[in-house]
Formats: sequence, structure tokens, C-alpha cells
Amino acid sequence: MPLDLPTLRRPLLRWYAAAKRDLPWRRTLDPYSILVSELMLQQTQVKTALPYYEKFLKRFPTAKALAAATEEQVLAAWAGLGYYRRARFLHAAAKAVTAAGAFPSTIEGIRELPGVGAYTAAAVGSICFNLPAAVVDGNVIRVLARLLALEADPTKGGGAQAIKDTAQAFLDPNHPGDFNQAMMELGASLCSPTKPQCPACPLKGQCAAFLAHKAEDFPKLPERAEGKVLYKSVVLAVRGKGAKLQVLAQPRKLAKGAAKAKAAEAGRAADRLQGLWSFPEVEITEGGLEMAEAAALKEARRLLGKQTDVAGRLGKHRHNITIYDIHLWPFWFRDEGGMDMKGGWEWVGIAALEKKPLASAEKKLLGLLKDALEPGREEQGQLGLKI
Ligand code: SF4
Repeated sequence: MPLDLPTLRRPLLRWYAAAKRDLPWRRTLDPYSILVSELMLQQTQVKTALPYYEKFLKRFPTAKALAAATEEQVLAAWAGLGYYRRARFLHAAAKAVTAAGAFPSTIEGIRELPGVGAYTAAAVGSICFNLPAAVVDGNVIRVLARLLALEADPTKGGGAQAIKDTAQAFLDPNHPGDFNQAMMELGASLCSPTKPQCPACPLKGQCAAFLAHKAEDFPKLPERAEGKVLYKSVVLAVRGKGAKLQVLAQPRKLAKGAAKAKAAEAGRAADRLQGLWSFPEVEITEGGLEMAEAAALKEARRLLGKQTDVAGRLGKHRHNITIYDIHLWPFWFRDEGGMDMKGGWEWVGIAALEKKPLASAEKKLLGLLKDALEPGREEQGQLGLKI
């Protein structure tokens, strides 16, 4: 049965009006605020992004305010959300909007902003300027692949083109913003990856996958890339005492030249964290506590001098960045010698470091270090050992 897409628009919009979640970015048509929400929601769930969105807009209520901030301030407001390139792009986009004097109001103009691709331009353009551009994100792909019972991979080649064409033909030209949001909401709620709730769906009358009782067989996606495991020893070097206590840290730099190629080959995620403050670390092979400790000690001695010894172990911790499963072995060391620091490392007060942009793993490590340094605990040395 050929699809009659225009007849599905009204039921979809009616369903959306009744079912949509009340989200702060749905109460505004301000393109800067919508851009902030769209970039935050890329690779981040709504419930995670919500508090960040409100805090970020309170701190930087306009593109002009964001443009005037330093990168460090922007990263600090973004810290914990991950995928920090988005924050840098947003910062650059705010500068471009401020320099131009107004937010662009065409799809082409919006796409020229740093970090804005076809999806984000369509979302901002349709919601804020009523531009008839269909959004295609993961949720929309799932809905359309099921609607069409698309046998091809919907993420590339002919399959991707079929999705794009269908999305554009389906878009309601009179209500593009609401229509796009309705499609995304449908994919995020009823048309979920597993157990879609087809009987309640406004598209069920023409959904080829549902009519064939095969909704969960679509979309036909390629196998996911296998995750990579990284092991690292981390050196938490401290000096001074009490209010004068300092930790060795520096902002992560972007890998260059051969180092960059090596990083890409090894599947490292460090470039994503560029500009966030980090501690000295060395990549190791899996070998347990002993190997991790030996690697950390070698690095600590290189940085702090040959007399340095491990002051305490802080357990083993895991965290994930995209496809990377990262195992961290942090150890702490006390600097006695006052070596000249090389490689950009700085001694930073703990309170000052807490105000700098830190990824969630570094935040956790700093918390562990603070616990270990609490009066009376330092003598125990191996506090926090969680292996
Ligand atoms: Fe998705 Fe089911 Fe609706 Fe089809 S009928 S679009 S499979 S929820």
C-alpha cells in the first residue's frame, strides 16, 4: 500500500499537542536558546541536559554574553556534560552571531555557524523561523525506517537518501517546527527501539512495519563498532599543607602531528577533552595493581625527582567516553623537592582547581584525593583502595 503522508500530518500534530513533555526549550522561540538546547541534547539524554541548560542560560543568557566569556568559563559551565567540542562550537557560534549583529534566519546562514550541521540547522530554522526543513536524527530515522519497512541501512547510501526524501515529503510546510518536534518526540516515546507502543501511535494506520507485525525488526542497522578498553595510571602529585595545598595539573592539549596519529590509531579519547584540566597519566597495558603502580611511580619520579615514592593508592575506577571503557589507577605522591616543572604542568591550589573545567573522571579523582588528604587519613596511605 503506497504511503499517503499528508493524511498522517494532522493526527501526528494532534498527538504531539496532547503528549508532548513540558521542556524549558519548548517554551521559547529564541534561536540562541534553541541552539544551546540542540547542542546539549546531542549525545546527551534530556534528563541529564535539563539542569545544565537552565544553569548555562542563567550564566550566559544571550549570544553576546557567551561570546564575551573565556573558553575556560564556557568549559567550566559545560563540565560534566561531556563531548566538550560542542561547548567550543557553541562559543564560536555565539561569537559569529555577535559579530554579525543578529542570528541568521535562513537554513544556509544557520549552517554556516560553527558546529552546526544539517540536523541542527533544520531544528533551529524550523522551530524559530518556520523554515520548511525536515530534521533527521536517530529517533526520526527509526520512525521512518519502520513506517517504510526499509530493508536498506538507513544511515548510508540509498537507505539514508530514502529517509531524507521521506522526511522532507512528510514535513508539514505550515507547521515545520511542531512537526519536527512531533517526529522526534514520537521516536523518543512510543516508537522506542524495543517494545514500541504501536496501538497508541498516530501513524499506525500506514506503518508498514507495524502492519507486517515486524516493528522491532526495523531499522536494519549495521553491527556496532566494538568498544575499546584503555588502562591508565594517574599521578596525583601534591605539595604544601592545609590551605596552601597544591596539586599538579594542566589543561589537556590537542594532540599534534605524530602524537595525533598515534592517538587516533590507539583509539584515545583525549582530544575530546582538550582544554579540560587533567593530571599526569600514562597509558598502560592490563596488568593489575603492581604494573599500574610501577608506571605511576616512574612518571612521578620523572616529574618530581628520583626520591619520590608512592604516598597512597586510590583504588581502581572505570568510566566511559563514547566507545572507550577507561580503567584508571590513581596514586598520590607528595612533592618534597621542588623540581622545575616541564611540559606545562602547574601547581594549582585545590580550591582553584575545583573552579576550573574538569571532566567527570578528574572531578572524581580530585574528590578521592581530598578524602585521602583529610587530617588523620594521610597516615593510612592506602585509603580508598577499591580494587
Ligand atoms: Fe513506530 Fe509502531 Fe508507530 Fe510504526 S506504528 S511508527 S513502529 S510506534
